Amino acid sequence: MASSAFAPPSSSLISHKHDFGLSPAKCKRSHSRRIVSVMAPQQTQRTPASTGSVKTAMTLTEKILARASEKPALMPGENVWVNVDILMTHDVCGPGSIGIFKREFGQNAKVWDREKVVIIPDHYIFTADERANRNVDILRDFCKEQDIKYFYDITDLSNFKVNPDYKGVCHVALAQEGHCRPGEVLLGTDSHTCTAGAFGQFATGIGNTDAGFVLGAGKILLKVPPTLRFVLDGEMPDYLLAKDLILQIIGEISVSGATYKAMEFVGSTVEGLNMEERMTLCNMVVEAGGKNGVVPPDSTTYKYLEGKTSLSYEPVYSDQTARFLSEYRFDVSKLEPLVAKPHSPDNRALARECKDVKIDRVYIGSCTGGKTEDFLAAAKVFLASGKKVKVPTFLVPATQKVWMDIYTMEVPGSGGKTCSQIFEEAGCDTPASPSCGACLGGPRDTYARMNEPKVCVSTTNRNFPGRMGHKEGQIYLASPYTAAASALTGYVTDPREFLH
Ligand code: SF4
Repeated sequence: MASSAFAPPSSSLISHKHDFGLSPAKCKRSHSRRIVSVMAPQQTQRTPASTGSVKTAMTLTEKILARASEKPALMPGENVWVNVDILMTHDVCGPGSIGIFKREFGQNAKVWDREKVVIIPDHYIFTADERANRNVDILRDFCKEQDIKYFYDITDLSNFKVNPDYKGVCHVALAQEGHCRPGEVLLGTDSHTCTAGAFGQFATGIGNTDAGFVLGAGKILLKVPPTLRFVLDGEMPDYLLAKDLILQIIGEISVSGATYKAMEFVGSTVEGLNMEERMTLCNMVVEAGGKNGVVPPDSTTYKYLEGKTSLSYEPVYSDQTARFLSEYRFDVSKLEPLVAKPHSPDNRALARECKDVKIDRVYIGSCTGGKTEDFLAAAKVFLASGKKVKVPTFLVPATQKVWMDIYTMEVPGSGGKTCSQIFEEAGCDTPASPSCGACLGGPRDTYARMNEPKVCVSTTNRNFPGRMGHKEGQIYLASPYTAAASALTGYVTDPREFLH
């Protein structure tokens, strides 16, 4: 399928539009959040051209699925068999998926493609929990048996650095290791697999049963989602990060506002985001129920991919007349730093209006907020303040590469200091071994797990009861700027208090 390189302007086939960003929601309004109703997709007829060339206008997501299902055109709602480019699994869901694969395909069956299966232990790694350790052993045995090419193993838990293959959090590792490529289909047994949509690919989470099938067949039956388009324009204020943008969007459309829909992010602000920030944007689409998130690939994408993959890829873009179910417009220059209050990612509030929330700790980590750019952002706030943190501040790099960056990359404007030096001067905990850490609680001995009912500002993506451990813990989701600012005061704090 030919690709067309253009950024979509407003479509004549948009079912309806919404404009946001002029009056951001305030803390006291967060309980009566604005919910946007989404109409069912208009079923306009699409007929493939008899010449064989595709003339039916499609969105980026529809084009990827059409190519992967070897069809000239697709419509939202169609069920199609899709060829999978990458299947990722980890230590939580891998053993179950492997069990289903062996039960259905046979004990001696081989995976459909040993180079397209990526297995990443990352969730429950640095723990004495025997069942968690056993899960990694099961992955190792399977990868050896199947000669899996991409297995990022860890054998020595006492020092992650002596495990050269070990990476860390799967979604960040997938990108860093070059498994995310425009135009492809990437599935994973993890709901935040949608992160990889930042590369202009179709990426979504699947369950163990589907993964067991994909391991044997390399295909999956998928329903084509309709696409919601989010146009983010305007100059990004230097106190905002992508986390604020996605919290704004989820607060606007609610945790069910994009259920089984593609969320396509476009506009001048999105074009100005680096890859890690685009990953943050796509990472949280599942918190709005989204099937996948996607950012049209551009020179930023291609530059990031340089040297990371030797495989060719073919990007696709939404056609000018593609039909979007809804379009949402945001003037980013008018937005303010946000948090999502307990216990839902759409419980949006302005950080500056939550000063009354005293906190016990801050957590900077995860696939959402534990990337290099996230730590650079936190360091920027600590550097600007010159002060020490007032609550325990836990730092969990997503991957081994992020850990290395923290210790080697100089923070701009610091006179040559690294993030690690700035964190130490600010009194933060020493950066921990890379993994999912306490993002989802984990075994009781997990570093920084909330074993007591604490109040935490966290750069992670979910704040449901019990998510980071104790079921009565309270989690305020925030950007790394807001998390660092809150660490410095001991209450939820707008980062402008330090950045200006
Ligand atoms: S860091 Fe958290 S959200 Fe991300 S994959 Fe790990 S547990 Fe899931």
